[in-house]
Amino acid sequence: MIDVSTNIGTWRNSCYNASVEPHSNISIISGRASPSYVIDGESIAVIDVCFPSDAKNILTFVRHTLGRDVNDIRLIVLTHSHFDHINGVDYLSNKTHAKLAVHSNAERYLTGNQATVFVGWKKFMQYMVFMVEHGVPRPSISEAFSMTWAGIPGIRKGIRTKVDYWLIDGEDLPDHPEWKVIHTPGHTDDSICLYSSQYNALISGDTIINLRGRLVLNPLLRLDNEAIIESLNKLKQLQVDVIYPGWGPPVFGKDILDRVYIDTSGK
Ligand SMILES: [Zn+2]
Repeated sequence: MIDVSTNIGTWRNSCYNASVEPHSNISIISGRASPSYVIDGESIAVIDVCFPSDAKNILTFVRHTLGRDVNDIRLIVLTHSHFDHINGVDYLSNKTHAKLAVHSNAERYLTGNQATVFVGWKKFMQYMVFMVEHGVPRPSISEAFSMTWAGIPGIRKGIRTKVDYWLIDGEDLPDHPEWKVIHTPGHTDDSICLYSSQYNALISGDTIINLRGRLVLNPLLRLDNEAIIESLNKLKQLQVDVIYPGWGPPVFGKDILDRVYIDTSGK
């Protein structure tokens, strides 16, 4: 990984780290909780946008590091509709007019009465503890807490941006056919991974996360234990040499999916 910018100021001052990956056409923008991934090409796609402050960092990165016009961002993709992956979407969409793509199972959460996927306060509080334990700064946690009203069904929808593409398993990502959509239910029923056979790379969303250097099937906020294990088995059919997870830095290695730890404590 090549560091192209250093930590600037404090988290409260919207610092971010970014790296341009030499192994693929993506860059990583560290988010205040979850990272965003930028797929570079004729146009640019952004994967997950945690908070508006992260959206601002993405715009800065695209302008100043990639040297591209922010209007080259034509697509925003959500790996699932949990609040910590979607709350910057409206900001980024308004600044770029990018189209939005999510899995078709997210329709009920993003356009219906039910807001984002959520499984109750107990899981939510576990998640807050998880954020503290894994070093997410407290200003980010309080921002997450205040914005989590977006994640409570019946309060309000998580985002206002209209969805342009309802993604399905096995199809190519719009404008970026080198990345394929893999439906991986379990963490949520609208979870997807993005896979590139060109780079042997997997963007895993919250299906697989990096906890202090160890890849695990996400033990928190998980809806369906059996489904997530089936999803892992499905992913194991792929040649994956690098995983870009929904939490933590990327992990490299041959047959890396065989090293994913299955934690069943979250159910
Ligand atoms: Zn999640």
